[in-house]
Amino acid sequence: MDNSRTKDTIHDTLKRRRLDANRDSWQAALQRTTAADVEAALASRPGSYSLDKLAALVSPAAEAYLEPMARAAHQLTIQRFGRTIRLYAPVYLSSYCVNRCRYCGFNTDNDFTRARLSIDEALAEAEILASEGFRDILLVSSEDKRFIGADYLEELATALRKRFSFIGVEIYQMDVADYRRLFEAGVEGVTLYQETYDRDAYAHYHLGGPKADYDQRLAGPDDMGAAGMREIGLGVLLGLADWRIETLALGEHARHLIQRYWRSHVSFSFPRLRAACGVSAETFPHLLTDKNLVQMMLALRLCFSDAGLVISTREPADLRDRLIELGVTRMSAGSRTNPGGYSESDKNTEQFTVHDQRSPAEVGAMLREHGFDLVWKDWDCAFLNT
Ligand code: SF4
Repeated sequence: MDNSRTKDTIHDTLKRRRLDANRDSWQAALQRTTAADVEAALASRPGSYSLDKLAALVSPAAEAYLEPMARAAHQLTIQRFGRTIRLYAPVYLSSYCVNRCRYCGFNTDNDFTRARLSIDEALAEAEILASEGFRDILLVSSEDKRFIGADYLEELATALRKRFSFIGVEIYQMDVADYRRLFEAGVEGVTLYQETYDRDAYAHYHLGGPKADYDQRLAGPDDMGAAGMREIGLGVLLGLADWRIETLALGEHARHLIQRYWRSHVSFSFPRLRAACGVSAETFPHLLTDKNLVQMMLALRLCFSDAGLVISTREPADLRDRLIELGVTRMSAGSRTNPGGYSESDKNTEQFTVHDQRSPAEVGAMLREHGFDLVWKDWDCAFLNT
């Protein structure tokens, strides 16, 4: 890796690489990539990163190499992680939000009946998941700081850590001090989507609220690293901007974090834009095909051997079944994306439409059929309870 500029902020890096704006030169470079460039990338050490290598692997020319990429990614993942998949489930805490993200059903302009969970209600949801066998839980909340504040999250995590071996959060951006408080309370992973690294697209899709500040958002993962978080989750909302260039920005962001925060692991998530309350997915210009999604995942695996690759129930069952052989390390199952969704399934509006509707037991059975072990201590109990 190039260590000559480790003092650069991620803002500096993206600007220097022309990944946050003026991206036309990347479009041209990706189109110019040849089969020989792709073959050179494939011949390099598996799991090593350079921006040129990642660019070759996400280029249109690499579409003809998906099979060898898949074989190499599979082999690398088995070497690093074994045949294991971590299963997790989200608990949605609130659908109140102060932000105006155009792509999200929870945005403050949408008129629907919102809900938020008290700590006791959140614990009851978590208990349902624990009884199904989950020991890995993801707490999800919109930007509802007045109710779902650091005190609330600290208290909830402290209670949950007796039952769960891994607690992650996917919430609004915090500062280093609050991330540290959560870490001390038992939260080990934070995912914060940049949504898009393209400044113009970011401004277009974020009409108001604290999240509309691109630069502040971009600084969030550094704050997680400074707080000592074990897992830093990165991702973009796939559909807002050209996925090939977004993948390059993700690669640079991951390299930036890996160089600085040795205690933290980086993971990538791949949320594709989905229909939601007041949001029609067809109106977005950069939607990905399944083939694009596969190429993106393979390219990142071949450049980051130790990164977690996370796939959610946004994706349909048949695709998820195929993706597990290509480098996925963690997947959700049986998810409800509305607050209170496990106890009263149709009560509230979902953040997005879930496509894989299978139960956790069904997903577990599928993984076993494929020869994967679940990193889930009480999985046998889950089978016995269903
Ligand atoms: S994406 Fe998050 S911050 Fe934006 S409106 Fe939805 S819940 Fe709020």
